[in-house]
Amino acid sequence: MLTVKQAESIILEIVKPLDKEKDTEIVTLETALNRILATEVTSQLDFPYWDNSAMDGYAVKFTDIEKCDINNPKILEIIEEIPAGYQPKKTIKLGQTSRIFTGGMLPNGGDTIVIQENTEKQKDSNKVKIFSPSKPQEFVRKKGEYYQAGKPLLNSGVKIHPAEIAVLATSQCNKLKVYRRPKIAILSTGNELINPNQTLKPGQIIDSNQYAIAAFISQLGGIPIQLGIIPDDKEALKKVISQAILQADFVVSTGGVSVGDYDYIQEILTSLGGKIEIQHVAVKPGKPLTVATFANTNCIYFGIPGNPVSALVSCWRFLSIAIKKLSGLSSNWLPVFVKGISRDELKTNGKRETYLWGKLSIEEGKNIFHLAGGSHSSGNLINLAQTNALAVIPIGKNVIPAGEEFLIMSLDN
Ligand code: AMP
Ligand code: MG
Repeated sequence: MLTVKQAESIILEIVKPLDKEKDTEIVTLETALNRILATEVTSQLDFPYWDNSAMDGYAVKFTDIEKCDINNPKILEIIEEIPAGYQPKKTIKLGQTSRIFTGGMLPNGGDTIVIQENTEKQKDSNKVKIFSPSKPQEFVRKKGEYYQAGKPLLNSGVKIHPAEIAVLATSQCNKLKVYRRPKIAILSTGNELINPNQTLKPGQIIDSNQYAIAAFISQLGGIPIQLGIIPDDKEALKKVISQAILQADFVVSTGGVSVGDYDYIQEILTSLGGKIEIQHVAVKPGKPLTVATFANTNCIYFGIPGNPVSALVSCWRFLSIAIKKLSGLSSNWLPVFVKGISRDELKTNGKRETYLWGKLSIEEGKNIFHLAGGSHSSGNLINLAQTNALAVIPIGKNVIPAGEEFLIMSLDN
């Protein structure tokens, strides 16, 4: 059986990112949030666009005020007022200054800003006393100091968050080439399954996986294509799967991958010419994870266990890596692990790498894992709500004692 790390390596190897040319579209700034740049972005504008003041104060020639002090102030004539957005008209000469406000454009002849706290405006005159010298060029933001036009502004493969939106807006990069969103088909298998809006009859089970996985895919920027519930019927399954693998980037099914009499997925994948890349992983929950590739399409098939907890843990631990790499992100494909402790003992049977669900919080600067209350049977879906982290118990370990450091997988990224 593969270890979690081995399965992770196989997934990273078989998933190829979307094509930089063919799999792209143009979006505007308003619709760019959470999209991934498919090309390097450059701007035609320097940033700052021109020399400007970082403070409210007075624009001066440094040589004019360098020798002043509190007992020996320099008196300057105010020749102009420069609020932000105004283009200065006058040139500062020795003995002169312009009143300037934050963001105001530095006037010709001025090279330094004296903050207003170090000055005193003389009543009913256009004179100001400067009490304290600045350093040369102090509080001047120089044109191009932070970015020079034509240089790389943002790299290809970067995800656009609010900070990137600010950078792109200020640089007038309004149209952006991004990767298209990955198309991921989802199907639920099982004769027992019904939709949440149907009346529950004895013995039936509501298909929660379809909805959970669609949400998970959307959260990672993909487009979920919900193919619904397919009965445990070889022909019906084969028909749906054979069409899905020709249309989607990935197909994700839940159920039917264990060793039960109604578990047909592996057999169908093989009959469709699929190469089984992963069949079982030493992970708990989620052992029957099945991953297949095909010769006639780039689509990758992820058969994950039907058990709702196993299904979500498989998504968090494995499918997330595949979606992130596919989507064009240049890095950060793997889950984020942090070191922390639990106040309670954590237990497993030690045979497989175990993921226990719960909440991660920072208390007095330490990462603390709180195990979800109630049963940790993979049949208990209810206590999964509010989970933001998984505690990892390595193979060979039965117990993590309270207070002992261990790895926690964060689900917040
Ligand atoms: P399976 O992997 O098909 O053996 O299913 C394992 C368990 O998960 C069974 O109890 C199923 O009824 C349940 N199950 C399977 N698919 C789903 C689903 N889509 N939503 C909720 N539970 C499911
Ligand atoms: Mg089943």
